[in-house]
Amino acid sequence: MTRLLALLLLFIWPATARCADGAAENGPRIRVAISRGVSSLKLKTSSRIYAQEVKSGQKYLLLENAAYEVRPLGKGIAVAGQELSSPIKLLASDGRERIRLGGNLYKGDILIMATPGGRLDIIECLSLEEYLYGVLPSEMSPDWPLEALKAQAVASRTYAMKFINPARDYDITNGVEMQVYKGTERINSRIIEAVNSTRGEVLKYKGKLVTAFFHACCGGHTASVKSAWGEDVIKPLYGVPDPFCSPSRHYRWEFYLPTPDLLKFIQSQGSTALKIKSMRIDKKDRSGRAASFKFTTDSGSTVVQTTDLRKRFGTFEFRSTYITGVAAVKGGYELDGRGWGHGVGMCQEGAKYMAMKGRPYRKILRHYYPSAAIVDYE
Ligand SMILES: [Zn+2]
Repeated sequence: MTRLLALLLLFIWPATARCADGAAENGPRIRVAISRGVSSLKLKTSSRIYAQEVKSGQKYLLLENAAYEVRPLGKGIAVAGQELSSPIKLLASDGRERIRLGGNLYKGDILIMATPGGRLDIIECLSLEEYLYGVLPSEMSPDWPLEALKAQAVASRTYAMKFINPARDYDITNGVEMQVYKGTERINSRIIEAVNSTRGEVLKYKGKLVTAFFHACCGGHTASVKSAWGEDVIKPLYGVPDPFCSPSRHYRWEFYLPTPDLLKFIQSQGSTALKIKSMRIDKKDRSGRAASFKFTTDSGSTVVQTTDLRKRFGTFEFRSTYITGVAAVKGGYELDGRGWGHGVGMCQEGAKYMAMKGRPYRKILRHYYPSAAIVDYE
């Protein structure tokens, strides 16, 4: 027996794919891609849920405590064997929990969209402030000082707002490529306080939102957005000296690069070398980060970008491009490095130590985003 009940025609109105419901009282809303390109979705309901076609407004009732498979079907979406036009919205009739994915619980409105490649994107629509409750514990430890958490709340709010774009299918993804979001997991009273006490506050420069990048640890000087990604630099993202993060365990590190692996890497970059004679830093940016390395080989010299080298050897071990020394050692080269991450914007370890020294969050933000104003988003 199909568990999808008959089409209900009692409530037909065009649903919005723009996630605008409740915008007035709860501030801006954001659409987060919580899962992308999946071939199917197993849906377990804990309350009565409607699957609503966004285009027609037609609603289908899904039973309470039942399991459904949702999968792409042509340009549409099949739910329990019945084809619905894409996208569909899941609406809980009583406001209780909505969806569990990968062990995470999502309480916002859920939109399921068929992609041109025959897959499904799962998008959660929720208020920006509720979204931040989910971002903060993933991007900063919930037990860090409150003023650091508040600084993170303002940075994350600003960063997310910068990407709100109704012309796209969703505003932001949920992984490290943007900012990590795992639904309602790990939310505690300190997280709620950090978000609520900074409600609506964002960073602006000359009236525009700053792309408020942040990273784990800068190693003593934050990077300019230009040297990190070649983007036009504005004063808040130009890079500043940071005397605060030096107690961090990420402040200094060493990493060993075996010569055979380096040789393979430069060969993949077009070098015909069979032997590496030396490796040294080629160019440094203003913050001290190594922009490129030069390899002297048996067939001339080769320059490689540090970001490419870092990607090849893993951004977890090769923690940053902030390399202060290269030494030839047995069978390879040893790098002395500093910090962890791209280095642009707020240094989270520095923010933690500033907060531990009693600096309020506004002072932390002014340090890492100089000349940016902390203003209300309206
Ligand atoms: Zn730092």
